[in-house]
Amino acid sequence: MSVLIHRVSLYDSGWTKREQPQVSHDSAYVTHQPVAAYSFQLSTKTSSWDRKPTSHAGSVAVCRVRPQPLPPATVAAGERWMQLSVMDRSVPNPFGNSDLTKYWNQRRRLFSRFDHGVQLDDEGWFSVTPEQIADHVASRLYQLSEARPMVVLDAFCGCGGNAIAFAKLPNVTVLAVDVDRAKLRRAAHNAAIYGIPPHKLAFVECNVLFILEHCYRQGDFVLDQPIATPELATKMMAAMPPPVATEIVEGFSVGGIDVLPRRVDAVFMDPPWGGVDYSVFGKNGYDLHRNMKIRRPLVAAPPDAPSAGDGLDDFFDSFQAQTRSKSERKAQFNSNVDDANCVNGAELVAIAAAATAQHIVIYDLPKNVNRTSLGNAALAAGYRGNCKLEEHFLNGRLKTVTAYMGSDWSNLVSDIADTSTTGTATP
Ligand code: ADP
Repeated sequence: MSVLIHRVSLYDSGWTKREQPQVSHDSAYVTHQPVAAYSFQLSTKTSSWDRKPTSHAGSVAVCRVRPQPLPPATVAAGERWMQLSVMDRSVPNPFGNSDLTKYWNQRRRLFSRFDHGVQLDDEGWFSVTPEQIADHVASRLYQLSEARPMVVLDAFCGCGGNAIAFAKLPNVTVLAVDVDRAKLRRAAHNAAIYGIPPHKLAFVECNVLFILEHCYRQGDFVLDQPIATPELATKMMAAMPPPVATEIVEGFSVGGIDVLPRRVDAVFMDPPWGGVDYSVFGKNGYDLHRNMKIRRPLVAAPPDAPSAGDGLDDFFDSFQAQTRSKSERKAQFNSNVDDANCVNGAELVAIAAAATAQHIVIYDLPKNVNRTSLGNAALAAGYRGNCKLEEHFLNGRLKTVTAYMGSDWSNLVSDIADTSTTGTATP
C-alpha cells in the first residue's frame, strides 16, 4: 500500500485590474492555478471486503508526489493589478468569544455567501471546511459522477460546508447525516443560500455508525432485508435509533432513517477528531487507531445511569488544554470516550468501505495524521494499491488534508520521475 501525498495549492484571493470599478464578492474566488482533475480509475484488483477484515499483511510506503510546476505568469507589461482579499477585520466579532475572532475575520473564506445569512454554531466556526477546499474535494468526484449519477453520504455533516459543495456537482445527490438536528437545520438553511435544489440534498438525524453498519452493504439499502444471524439481529435492534419527526426546512427534508435512499455510492467523512488539542501529537503524530474515537449509538441505558453527554463540554474543555503539560494533554486526549462503545479512525475506514459498492471513501483528517497509520487503516479495510492524501494549501498555508480511497492511484506514480520514499512500515 502506498500513501501518495500530493500538495494542492488553492487561493481565495484573486488579482484584478485596478481600473475595474466594482468586483462582486463571488468573483473574488479565483484560483491562480486551475487544478486538473485526476483520473479517478477504479482498481480492478480483487480484495476482500469483509466487514471485519482480519488480514493486515502488507507494508505501507509513504511517497510524496512532486508538485506540478506553476503556469507562467500571464500579466501583460504595463497592466496594474491589485489583490482582492476575503479577510475582513473591519467588523468586530459580534459573539464576544475572543477564540472566534480569528474565524470571524475569515468568515467569507468559510462561506463566500456568508453575508447572505449563513448560520454557524460555536462548533461550526472551528470545524467547517473553507469553501474553496470543500469545492476542490468535491470536484474529485466530478469525473466519476459524469459517467452515472451518484449518491454521496456526508457522514458528519455539521453546518453543511462539504454537503453543499458535493450537492453543487450536477450529477450528485447528497445524504447529509449528523446526530445534531440543530446543525442539520442550519445546514439546510445554508444550502438554500447556495441555491441547492431540495431534491439534491436530504438531511438525516442519526448516529452515522448505525447507518453505515446496518443500513447499507455494498451500496445497497439493506435495513429492510432479512438479517443473517440472530446475533446480528440483536445487535442491530439494540442500536436502532428512536423514531424522529421529519420536517421541511427551507424546502429540504430533515428527518430520520426513514428518508434514506436505496443506494449510496460514496462516503465522505469529516469526523470529530477529539477536539482542537489534536496538534499535541506533533507532526505526523496523530494515529488513526489510537487517537480517533467515534461514539457508537447509545445502547439503551438503565434509567438511573449517568448521561453520556453530547461531547460538547469536552469540546469546549479542550480550549483550556493549554494550561496542562503536553504529556497530560496527550494522556487525556479523547479519554472521556468509552473505548468499549466507540469505533476508532481505522475501523471507520473499513465500515465506510463496506457500505459502498465501489468503496469510494473520502476522509478529511487532521493535518498531523500519521501517514503510515492511514496506510495501515486502508490495508486493514481491504484496499490494495494506492491511497492518495491531498494536502490543501490555502494561500500558501496548510489548512486540511484529505485521503481518497477506492481508486487505484498508481497511474500517478508512473508519471513521477523523482519520488522519494519518506518512510516505510510493516504493520
Ligand atoms: P470537529 O470539531 O473535530 O470537526 P465535531 O465534534 O464538530 O468535530 O463533530 C463533527 C460533526 O459530527 C458534528 O456536527 C457532530 O454533531 C457530528 N457527529 C459526531 N459524532 C457523530 C456520529 N457518531 N454520527 C453522526 N454525526 C456525528
